[in-house]
Amino acid sequence: MSGLSKSRIQYHRQCPRRLWLHTYRPQLAEIDPAMQMRFDIGNQIGEAARTFYPDGVLIDAPSAAQQLAETKRVLSGAPRPIFEATFETDGVLVRADLLLPDAVGYRMVEVKSATEVKPNYLDDAAIQAWVARKAGIPVTRVEVAIIDKSFTYRGDGNYDGLLKHVDVTVATHSFESQIPGWVNAARDTLASKEPLIDTGDQCEKPNRCPFFHSCAPKRVPGSKAYYPVEILPWADELAIDLRIEGYDDMREVPAFRLKNPLHQRIQRVCTSGRYELSPEAQEQIQHLAYPRYYIDFETANPAVPVWANTRPYQQIPFQWSCHIETRNGTIEHKAFLALGTDDPRRAFAESLVDVLGQTGPILVYNAGTERSHIRHLALCFPDLAPALNAAADRIVDLLPIARAHYYHPDMHGSWKIKDVLPTIAPELAYGDLEVRNGVQAQHVFAELMNPDLPDARRTSLRESLLSYCERDTLAMVRLAHFFECGAAQNPSTHIVEL
Ligand code: SF4
Repeated sequence: MSGLSKSRIQYHRQCPRRLWLHTYRPQLAEIDPAMQMRFDIGNQIGEAARTFYPDGVLIDAPSAAQQLAETKRVLSGAPRPIFEATFETDGVLVRADLLLPDAVGYRMVEVKSATEVKPNYLDDAAIQAWVARKAGIPVTRVEVAIIDKSFTYRGDGNYDGLLKHVDVTVATHSFESQIPGWVNAARDTLASKEPLIDTGDQCEKPNRCPFFHSCAPKRVPGSKAYYPVEILPWADELAIDLRIEGYDDMREVPAFRLKNPLHQRIQRVCTSGRYELSPEAQEQIQHLAYPRYYIDFETANPAVPVWANTRPYQQIPFQWSCHIETRNGTIEHKAFLALGTDDPRRAFAESLVDVLGQTGPILVYNAGTERSHIRHLALCFPDLAPALNAAADRIVDLLPIARAHYYHPDMHGSWKIKDVLPTIAPELAYGDLEVRNGVQAQHVFAELMNPDLPDARRTSLRESLLSYCERDTLAMVRLAHFFECGAAQNPSTHIVEL
């Protein structure tokens, strides 16, 4: 009768195949950096929540049976807060993040790292409360604790107000009658063969499924799965309609079904197998003055604020990379990476002002991020504001140029720099780097923030971060050159006037 838990029931509700794979083929799961980050943040918030109840006791015995026994023992004593209290009923095991005694029973609290109560949190809380009540616990109130994004940390170690408790007792009541049905359905699935369910919307909701790489059709060049209609950007409903109409492959879609010029170009490129670069890209880069500055930032957004006067999840820039190109063709690289031991913003802003000089375009890829960070730093440091605001005014965004004028069949509907770069400079792809994306960079910086990190490890992590950010700005240099050379110098270019 054992084998189910709150998480497993929820996996089944997301997709029966997910529960089946989790149970019988767990080795197929791929935990990507974003998923790992989500787990880590969840643990961090869970630990932070416990600090508010210094008289609480943590149930951390090594096995479920011992956790159940330990919970029973603690409950038999004087009422006190319990962390990870463990209960089982009808073969369903749950652990409550917080169990807080009140006058007549216990408040049961699910702690979440989000800033709002999501629908699946109510299901989670309902399952916890259902099991606990059936195990004989007088649950008087069910709550979800979420992060209050208006909380500002003052740097004094006081986190009162970080979490906001939302009473969901009534909302969860309405689910409790459905839970036996959820449990039985999950058991039926586990007693059957692997359910053959195609990938779809459910793979991302409420969270990305770790079996996606295993379930999704493999992208083999030339195959239908290589150009699915879902690669069309900003066209979820159109893709659904096209599937219903029987079109799986972009190359099969009749021209009259695609009204958006961007979609039309994607279809042309998928069909021809050759990229398109329109002459306007060349014109827009050629008129840019020198020196040209190519910059990129990395940021951290701790769920639990670390530095004074910051809020939960506030983006804090900690690293920049800058390639500087002069008219005579020289390219110089400069970089800044915070130590990680204190608030990085002032040193980041000062060094950035120094490197960017007074004149010359500042090229970025997706300007919203860099521009908003520079403007925010200007608000934080009024003495640097004139220089920072002047820098923000010099920003030139390569993303809209790429989106409007370039597409390659291997971009699969994405103009992210990491999808564009392999199509113009495959030797610069990120595969040889230890840090390959922004989420990993955040992870590494979080490790650098540990003051007790051994020197050798610190040096190695810093080198990884510096190499990664440098690659991002070098990619921009290559992209700008690619556009600037245009058709004449890119002989394989297939130009279509748009
Ligand atoms: S990837 Fe999608 S189809 Fe496959 S198990 Fe996960 S949710 Fe189900």
